[in-house]
Amino acid sequence: MKKAKDSDEAWIIQDKHEDRPHGWIQWKGTEVCMDVNCKCGGLFHIDGTFVYHVKCPKCGTVFFCNGHIELIEIEQEPDTCVVSGELPIMEKIDESFLNKLFEGYERVGA
Ligand SMILES: [Zn+2]
Repeated sequence: MKKAKDSDEAWIIQDKHEDRPHGWIQWKGTEVCMDVNCKCGGLFHIDGTFVYHVKCPKCGTVFFCNGHIELIEIEQEPDTCVVSGELPIMEKIDESFLNKLFEGYERVGA
């Protein structure tokens, strides 16, 4: 289990799956439902927006939520709940916006 001093340190040590297919979730206020398994054995549920951190109601531990997610290729496309992306993402985003967004963080592969 990883433990960081604060959110900034957690951002640095989070697993970014950089050597495998992956995504990064930027919540933008999007509502999420999450079942959380705490280090204390507590299991709790979250319904909320901007869920960048969760707090266990049993032991009070606060966790940084790593928005980097593993992507698993599948051979058969489901009939529903598939969202197509837009290409190419890097040409649509202004470089100065990215620099401001990641200010203070080391950018890998930029
Ligand atoms: Zn707990």
